[in-house]
Amino acid sequence: MKIAGEPSFRDSVDLMFNRATALMDLSPGLQQKIQVCNSTYTVRFGVRLRGKIETFTGYRSVHSEHMEPVKGGIRYALSVNQDEVEALAALMTYKCALVETPFGGSKGGLCIDPRAWEENELEQITRRFAYELIKRDLIHPAQNVPAPDMGTGAREMAWIADQYARMNTSDINGKACVTGKPPHAGGIQGRVEATGRGVQYAIHEFFRHEDDKALAKLSGGVEGKRVIVQGLGNVGYHAAKFLSEEDGAVITAVIEHDGAIINDKGVAIEELRQWITKTGSVKGFSGGEYVIDGAAVLEKDCDILIPAAMEGVINLTNAARISCKLLVEAANGPVTYGADEILRKKGVIIIPDMYANAGGVTVSYFEWVKNLSHIRFGRMQRRAEESRHILLVNELEKLSADKGLGWTMSPNFKDKYLKGAGELELVRSGLDDTMRSAYQAMREVWHGRNDVEDLRVAAYIVSISRVAAAYQSKGL
Ligand code: NAD
Repeated sequence: MKIAGEPSFRDSVDLMFNRATALMDLSPGLQQKIQVCNSTYTVRFGVRLRGKIETFTGYRSVHSEHMEPVKGGIRYALSVNQDEVEALAALMTYKCALVETPFGGSKGGLCIDPRAWEENELEQITRRFAYELIKRDLIHPAQNVPAPDMGTGAREMAWIADQYARMNTSDINGKACVTGKPPHAGGIQGRVEATGRGVQYAIHEFFRHEDDKALAKLSGGVEGKRVIVQGLGNVGYHAAKFLSEEDGAVITAVIEHDGAIINDKGVAIEELRQWITKTGSVKGFSGGEYVIDGAAVLEKDCDILIPAAMEGVINLTNAARISCKLLVEAANGPVTYGADEILRKKGVIIIPDMYANAGGVTVSYFEWVKNLSHIRFGRMQRRAEESRHILLVNELEKLSADKGLGWTMSPNFKDKYLKGAGELELVRSGLDDTMRSAYQAMREVWHGRNDVEDLRVAAYIVSISRVAAAYQSKGL
């Protein structure tokens, strides 16, 4: 989305990159090498649908190959264009470096309104797009591994994996050509929720640091905090659901493409999601007040604002009126370069996209490793762990009985403690650890240097240093 009078999304990412590199000691040559997008492939292909040939335009952009495979989602939207795909590919490079997933950055997109096509038509289109990318190694387990993004999900990833298998019948690692697949088609438990779960873990980590909360003029925990979420798709739905149902946050408004639902007592996220699935709209939902001007609801007073829909929604036209304390960028690029400056001056703390929404790529990394190792996480250890715990509990209970102490463990504790970790528990633990470590790496730069004003610049500095080190070790 290009906003009048503002840099394009790609330029906005570059300007943010420049803010960071101005504080770093990189040679101009290396700086340029990291910043440029290595290549963008544009493909136009035809599919016979409803009795006529429809031509579609798609992109796959590779931003940086300092590590391979490169990684990044495939977006389906009418607004997809080269500038956007390149901006998103660049963000993938920095994101992967920040959360230490061993990938370069890439992104893909198809100009299409997915709502305008039937499922079988979408399958034909997706398979044809995948065919075009696979035959150029732009989808490949060792070179380029897509994942879902806006407008795509597990279903599309399963079609892509199957298309790759048809074209590479003897590739034993073929399933690792794409992540975000359904569990029954080589996926991993916890991938669908991963980006929203990562947003929740990012907020938890922020709330662990009293001085960071103080900077945002927040205190206490997540419970009772007033949260506004824009976009109730994959990312926004899971983030809103976990924050409200597990942490006790109050979702005071949900903004969707056709309006918003406001309820100061809290929007019931599961019910609203079901309503949207049934009707395609937030309109008519009885659990809150419907407002047609969704954009205006972004400006409503709240503690935490979570834009989880698309880029550029907070820009020069509305930044001055945004009145949250903490802004968590669950979407990619929701705040433009100009808006970022205004919000910083206002004292709004921004948890930047490359960190806040990195849960998706983190769990994608686990899925890729699972596919390459051909075994489910926890399969070998789970029961061994369980037996050791049973041994310990039995021994403690026996000692208590022998000494006549009468101690017993509550069934609830025993249930929780005895259970060995399965795939979902391990995925969540790996994700939580990743989100904590990455926040701490950013925070060290943010508070450790007096020339670093905000978390975004800190995130860029951490990422760019790691990418620079990877290039330097290759002799560049
Ligand atoms: P999605 O297609 O599942 O959901 C997007 C939602 O936003 C939809 O419900 C849509 O109706 C709504 N929407 C669209 N335009 C809107 C507008 N103008 N105002 C309010 N709502 C609007 O997409 P997603 O996968 O949840 O992705 C959302 C954002 O998160 C994107 O920026 C994407 O790049 C980013 N992201 C996604 C993932 C992932 O794993 N899916 C990972 C990292 C980042």
